[in-house]
Amino acid sequence: MQASSGLRIGRILGIPIYVHASWMIIFVLITMSLAVQFTQQHPQWTSVQHWSVGIATSLLFFASVVFHELSHSMVARAYKIRVISITLFVFGGVARIGREPAKAMQEFNIAIAGPLASLFLAVGFYSLTLFFPYAEMTGALAVWLWKTNAMLALFNLLPGFPLDGGRIFRAIVWGVTKDFSRATKIAGTSGKIVAYGMILFGAGVAMRGQWSSGLWLAFIGWFLLNAAQESVAQVAIRETLSGLHAADVMSHEVPTVARILSLEEYGQEVARTGRRCHLVITDDRLMGMINVTTLNSVPRSEWVHNSVQAVMIPREKILWAKPEEPLLGLLERLVAADVNQMPVVSGGDDGAHIIGMITRDSILRVMQARSEVGSLSPTR
Ligand SMILES: [Zn+2]
Repeated sequence: MQASSGLRIGRILGIPIYVHASWMIIFVLITMSLAVQFTQQHPQWTSVQHWSVGIATSLLFFASVVFHELSHSMVARAYKIRVISITLFVFGGVARIGREPAKAMQEFNIAIAGPLASLFLAVGFYSLTLFFPYAEMTGALAVWLWKTNAMLALFNLLPGFPLDGGRIFRAIVWGVTKDFSRATKIAGTSGKIVAYGMILFGAGVAMRGQWSSGLWLAFIGWFLLNAAQESVAQVAIRETLSGLHAADVMSHEVPTVARILSLEEYGQEVARTGRRCHLVITDDRLMGMINVTTLNSVPRSEWVHNSVQAVMIPREKILWAKPEEPLLGLLERLVAADVNQMPVVSGGDDGAHIIGMITRDSILRVMQARSEVGSLSPTR
């Protein structure tokens, strides 16, 4: 649900590609270790050659990960699921898609596309090694890339959520049990087992003296552990909010202010009532909306000289919610638009009528309360 983080490096097939800060460190580390490796194994090369093959190999590895994520994305698109972005992280990438797949079969196909793509690249680079000997630059590059892509495919097939293998596993459990949330919990648990397994295995390797690879494995395990917990928590949010609509959670109180009020007076109104958002009304007609954020966008010294009307969010720019709108989608809309509240409007174009206000806080309160008492009605 959070906005894409990292540096945007471009757009492929209409999908924005981001690079997380952690990736840049990895890129430098991989390039350096490759240059060192090539220096040891190919002393006949010049150091310019060591470094340029190192950089080219790193860049192609980076392209391989993008290719892996694009394969997930293309299958998702085939199911009419929007792909929001691709972000490259420490140990691979993440393709963010607009919604969860509707069917187990769709999730299975989206998930398996990535490892298949990496396997395809592994075979491609392997066949290059048949034509170029390892002593040549192309050969050295191809050997590293076929092995790394093969490892990427195998690692991603580990049956722990949120790795591709975990998604494949979840899709199978989902298909068999027809129960999405149960499948997620099972795949989340297997994700934790895989993660703890990697941490223990990494610790074992480190204790046998191979410190860097041991710590590296343990670190990836720890990263996976967090990701597994987060993914399960996100599904829990979906669970908690499913079956609820805007009308269930909105506040029926709709505070209003007159448009001729000065900002100074509006500030006093906010301070007096503690309400942070108001609709601006003239003769019972809606003109716009004003809130504390809008108020604070004007310097304090100018509050006396400006009216509410001068700074309010005009009517046509207000985001609306319908009373029957599902709460989960609404929360995603609030977060995406970076606003804290939306008026809830019922009726058609002629008789549009504001019946309440919905805020992020009120949604969070419901989530909190529901997690304390448990869901009262079966939602699935
Ligand atoms: Zn993948």
